[in-house]
Amino acid sequence: MKVYLLLGGNIGDTKSLFAQTIKLIQTEVGDVVQKSSLYESEPWGFEHEQNFLNQVVIVETMLEPINLLDTTQQIEKEMGRVRKKSQYSERTIDVDILFYDNLVMESERLTIPHLMLHQRMFTLEPLVELSPNFIHPKKQKTLVELLHECSDKLFVKRLAD
Ligand code: ADP
Ligand code: MG
Repeated sequence: MKVYLLLGGNIGDTKSLFAQTIKLIQTEVGDVVQKSSLYESEPWGFEHEQNFLNQVVIVETMLEPINLLDTTQQIEKEMGRVRKKSQYSERTIDVDILFYDNLVMESERLTIPHLMLHQRMFTLEPLVELSPNFIHPKKQKTLVELLHECSDKLFVKRLAD
C-alpha cells in the first residue's frame, strides 16, 4: 500500500529530527519512496515563537491502517514527543496519516484521508509538490484543485533542498 505521511515539528533541530524520523519510518513502516522539500509555516491554531517545519513522505507499507497508526504513534514517542493538555501545543515530532491508497475510513482513532488536509496550506503545498494529480478519494478532486480552493492564508515557504 502507498501511504502519505506528514511530518511536523517546531522544537529543537527539526531538520535532523525529521531525518531521524524518516529512518524510523523506513525500518518500522516500510520503504520511503519519495520525500517532499521541507516547508516552513506559521504555527496553526496557537501562538508560538518558533515556526513549524513540515514534510510529506510517501511510504510503501504492508501495515493495516490501525497498525500503521500504532506504529507512527510509537515513532512519535520514540522521538521524545511530549503530549501536553492542549491539542495544539509544543511537540517534538508529529506524524499524521494523510492518505492510505484510495481508502476512505472513519473510526474513533483514525480518519483517512486526514480530516484537515484540504484546509491547510502546509499540508497541500508539499503534497502538490509530490503528486499534483492525485485525487482525494473523498473530495474527488486533485490535490492541485484543492490547493487552489484552499482559503488558508497562513504563510508557507518552501525551503531550499
Ligand atoms: P494533531 O495531529 O491533530 O495535532 P495528535 O497528533 O495529538 O494531534 O492526534 C490526535 C489524534 O488524532 C490521535 O490520537 C489519532 O488517534 C487521531 N487521528 C485521527 N485520524 C488520524 C490520522 N489520519 N493521522 C493521525 N492521527 C489521526
Ligand atoms: Mg498527529
